Amino acid sequence: MDEETRLIRTGLANHTLAKTVNPPIQRGSTVLLRDAASLYDDDQLTYGITGLATPSALQAALADLEGAEDVTLYPSGLAAITGALLAVLKAGDEVLVVDSAYKPTRRFCDRLLSRFGVTTTYYDPALDADALMALATPRTRLIVLEAPGSLTFEMQDIPAIAQAANARGIMTLIDNTWAAGFYFKPLAHGVTLSVQALTKYVGGHSDCFMGSVATSDKAVAALLGEAMWDIGWSVSPDDAYTMLRGLRTLATRLPRHHENGLEVARWLQARPEVARVLHPALPDDPGHAIWKRDFTGACGLFGVVLKPCSQTAAKAFLDSLKLFGLGFSWGGYESLALHCDPQLTFRSIPVNLEGPLLRFHVGLESVEDIKADLDQAFTTFRGASPL
Ligand SMILES: *Cc1c(COP(=O)(O)O)cnc(C)c1O
Repeated sequence: MDEETRLIRTGLANHTLAKTVNPPIQRGSTVLLRDAASLYDDDQLTYGITGLATPSALQAALADLEGAEDVTLYPSGLAAITGALLAVLKAGDEVLVVDSAYKPTRRFCDRLLSRFGVTTTYYDPALDADALMALATPRTRLIVLEAPGSLTFEMQDIPAIAQAANARGIMTLIDNTWAAGFYFKPLAHGVTLSVQALTKYVGGHSDCFMGSVATSDKAVAALLGEAMWDIGWSVSPDDAYTMLRGLRTLATRLPRHHENGLEVARWLQARPEVARVLHPALPDDPGHAIWKRDFTGACGLFGVVLKPCSQTAAKAFLDSLKLFGLGFSWGGYESLALHCDPQLTFRSIPVNLEGPLLRFHVGLESVEDIKADLDQAFTTFRGASPL
């Protein structure tokens, strides 16, 4: 053969791969089939958009984590939420969404889902199962849950809601990112769809986007798979490898986030500048009893309500933090902070807080260094004329 051809055809030899600890990063769009008949055989893997070695290994590991029969991967956490909604909803349906849901979830419902004839009703996270079911109509197809809620950290009685919804033939979907699939197992409590932004704790290093939807309902799993093909989403094998690597240390990292987070939360509770700490693992938190019953731990993310003060003073506090980065997202190894009030204006049910709301993600640093950083920032804050 000519050199031109040889450069294209050599080095492709199919030899057995050495057994390494981690699965190979198998990159591929085209999948070569054995014979012409196989090209149209639906029982074979015919295209690399799903089913290659690395994403498949991640799906198997996540199915184990979530106690699920089936896991679908998406290019981001938000895509996992929107992908699940698109897969199970149709024109004429109504969806009940908790008012404390991740804000982009609400944006998708209001802007895009509404264009396709799906209506959204936002409900108070404080509603119990009976009060929530009283809002359901014959058109209600899905209830979206999030516990603790984004920014305000309300707990919901997930087992009771899932049971009541199942009895009425209504599906439930939970955004389980806070528990990282580790500290809470929604499917074991009857929830239909458990969604995670793997971007947060599973990745764990603030460097990769991905989302997953876990279910044990075969019919729902089939809908998710179809929507995946219809929409044309796929995840990169390199990213799947990164997520799998993060997953290996999830159970080692999370207890440190739990301990550090809770210690910093208690320390903040005792500060004279703080009105309230929103953290369900604190015994005086309104959601504590549910958290204690259903969850086996807490991650490093919680809220802090300052005593009445200006937004300028709250920003001066954030600006003087040195160890904490200021930024969105969370779940990485590092500490982060932000102020939340601009996001709370979108809520349907007004949130009444004593003062500005800050959110902290407590990372894996030494907890003494974290407290020292907060302490020096409070010194600046007091100098910034709080009122
Ligand atoms: C970050 C986040 C998401 C979305 O994840 P992305 O990968 O950033 O799209 C979804 N839900 C919650 C609760 C989140 O914090």
